[in-house]
Amino acid sequence: MIGVEMQKVLVADDDAVNRDVLGELMKPEYTVLLAKNGAQTLERAARHQPDLILLDVLMPDMDGYEVLRRLRADPATEHIAVIFISGLDRPEDEATGLKMGAADYITKPFNQTVVMARVALHLQVVRQRRMLERLANVDGLTELANRRRFDEVYEMEYQRARRSGRPLSLAMLDIDAFKQYNDRYGHPAGDRALRSVARAAAKAMRRPGDLAARYGGEEIVLLLPETDAVDAGEVVAQLRASVAALGIAHEASHVAPVLTVSAGGATLDPGKPESPAALFEAADAALYRAKQAGRNRTSWCATR
Ligand SMILES: [Mg+2]
Repeated sequence: MIGVEMQKVLVADDDAVNRDVLGELMKPEYTVLLAKNGAQTLERAARHQPDLILLDVLMPDMDGYEVLRRLRADPATEHIAVIFISGLDRPEDEATGLKMGAADYITKPFNQTVVMARVALHLQVVRQRRMLERLANVDGLTELANRRRFDEVYEMEYQRARRSGRPLSLAMLDIDAFKQYNDRYGHPAGDRALRSVARAAAKAMRRPGDLAARYGGEEIVLLLPETDAVDAGEVVAQLRASVAALGIAHEASHVAPVLTVSAGGATLDPGKPESPAALFEAADAALYRAKQAGRNRTSWCATR
């Protein structure tokens, strides 16, 4: 899916002719954005998140070096690759640009084929970096976020909830009698079942901030920002129902004739002193209670 989407290139030049020439050159291959000055470049970079910026060095309001410095100083734009396009052709100008962190430095007048080749090269680097980031954050079997990614996002969302005073809910899910499932149907079937449950979990995430992650083994954790216990309980109830509705036969289960999940959850009360670890333990303890009570049910930590 990611590979099909066109990469975005922002062309920033105060000269309308240069801007159009570069824009037209890029159009057949990339989604092109244009900016005519430094301020516009910063604004469009932050808003549209281009993969690459072709940045003119000489612009009246703010030169390209200053634009690059500001891009790097803002967490929203610090990662964006920049190629300088410059009328300054002294080696020291080029050295300055590269030292500041530009990916490349092309002097005017430029050769169109060379510009295209360099742009393609740097965009390939961007694509590869994205893929590596993705691999580092995604669980290979289920394609959910992995535990490393979850830990990172959880810490961030926890602090955000603390600051904003909004609730944050956490739910742990465990496939019931999964060991018996593997024993009865074999590990490849177990992997397929786990993938099906993971897909249901991913589908159950409604908002951009919601995250379903594989926490380990057959455990899935849901992170639901700005969601109180009632709404989170609903998300979990629907997910449990959709897993049961998959109708994955489980003859070795003492709980139900089909594959089911147990869930435990906890909701952060931003007014109470706590810690990310304490909230996590509360959700885990709730899951334990759901299992103790006979599995195929949800238990929510009531004391938050
Ligand atoms: Mg210029």
